[in-house]
Amino acid sequence: MSQEQIETEGCFLRFIMAALHTIAVLFVVVWLCSSLVGLCSLIAIVLTVIIYIFFFSIFEFFYYRSKAFLAIKHSIDKNIEKCNLLNKHIEDLKSASVKIKSTDFGMSDYRDESVYNYTRPELKKLQYDEHVYDCSLSVCKNAQQQPFKYLCKYFDFEISEEFLNNIESALNDFSAAEQGKVLLIQERNRIINSIKEKVPFLLVKFRQNKLIQKLGFKFIGFNDPYFPKYSFRYVSPGCNSSMVCDIVLDIPNLEKLVHYVAKGIDYKNGIQGQRVLMTTSLREKIKQRDHYTCQHCGLSINQEPNLLLEIDHIIPLSKGGMTTEDNLQTLCWKCNRHKGNKIY
Ligand SMILES: [Zn+2]
Repeated sequence: MSQEQIETEGCFLRFIMAALHTIAVLFVVVWLCSSLVGLCSLIAIVLTVIIYIFFFSIFEFFYYRSKAFLAIKHSIDKNIEKCNLLNKHIEDLKSASVKIKSTDFGMSDYRDESVYNYTRPELKKLQYDEHVYDCSLSVCKNAQQQPFKYLCKYFDFEISEEFLNNIESALNDFSAAEQGKVLLIQERNRIINSIKEKVPFLLVKFRQNKLIQKLGFKFIGFNDPYFPKYSFRYVSPGCNSSMVCDIVLDIPNLEKLVHYVAKGIDYKNGIQGQRVLMTTSLREKIKQRDHYTCQHCGLSINQEPNLLLEIDHIIPLSKGGMTTEDNLQTLCWKCNRHKGNKIY
């Protein structure tokens, strides 16, 4: 694009911006005048707002296609890509599962063969899910009192070293995901702050979500519920009432479950010896020991304040590694992702 074209485009955008400011001034004038007239004031305000939004949309439409904006976007391309990669990594961490069943119950087929296919309205609402256990009222109530006991019993979770490893890994992944989200938002804000001066004030102030989207940031699932949920459900025989007890394995609850299962395994008699539990405090202790530095690539939070650090088993659990302090190390999320089941 020639210098002349860029200048023409700049002039056009400045013209729309000026029009917007004029409308804002007009709005105040119209509002003041119409308030004197009385009845027409509301209509005048609504009309002015509609005209303002109309001009604002035109401005936005052309601005996001302008070379000026594309140049800003291009200047931070690499940072945005990094953020999007971390975002994808966080989504992968969220999909960690805690499922370890002690028994294979086999498969069966179920169908409704009634002639009129009549189902009571309440029953129609019920969804059958392997995370929902339909039970008696007393089981439902007791599950509320002793969630882990009933969770292990009715969802057939075996109190074993394998299950403990599994829930510890899930806890490790979820903690990294939660921390990653905070760091990702901070990094995104840092990037936006670095270009804030170059982007029109109105777009930064009132249309930040659109600006974020136009810059190429992928959506961050900040509030989506991804923690595994197990439910005990009771439905009365007449289907008039029902009761549900939900057990959500979020970070605090998973941490408690780790202790519960560890106690169930009873370490005193086990092979564990120096086995430690992968809790929040242990993760922090390992990071502190490693000076918040990736033990593979040497990157630390001093160089990248919003760096996501994760805790890794040097010899993976799948290869017989144990959760001991000697076998744990701090890795940045990229090195950890690359490492997979390798040993280094
Ligand atoms: Zn690294």
